[in-house]
Amino acid sequence: MIANTLPNVDSALQEIANKVYNGQRISDEDGLYLFEHASLAFAGALANYVREQKHGDITYFNRNFHIEPTNACVYSCHFCSYSRLYAYRDEAWELSLQQMMDIVKKYDNDP
Ligand code: SF4
Repeated sequence: MIANTLPNVDSALQEIANKVYNGQRISDEDGLYLFEHASLAFAGALANYVREQKHGDITYFNRNFHIEPTNACVYSCHFCSYSRLYAYRDEAWELSLQQMMDIVKKYDNDP
């Protein structure tokens, strides 16, 4: 794929795209420029091109779990709908170490 014919894409982005499509590594500055100026679709297309070059049509996924030890937070960020320390205190929880270990144990035989 030749990127230098992309319409409505600024020359700096086209230059970065050409690097990617020519198998060249982009610089930190290129990455920052992409972050600040490229659409998500444009950056995603470049990332997908690299992924397909490295792994073909195979996609890998990460499966994990996380434990939330408590929802009683001492802060009160205005946008927060998670903390239950001040509002809805009766809905607050705090897990013991054993409760957290019990959660971990559930995944013992999960590949
Ligand atoms: S966002 Fe909510 S949970 Fe996170 S620090 Fe702020 S109040 Fe606490």
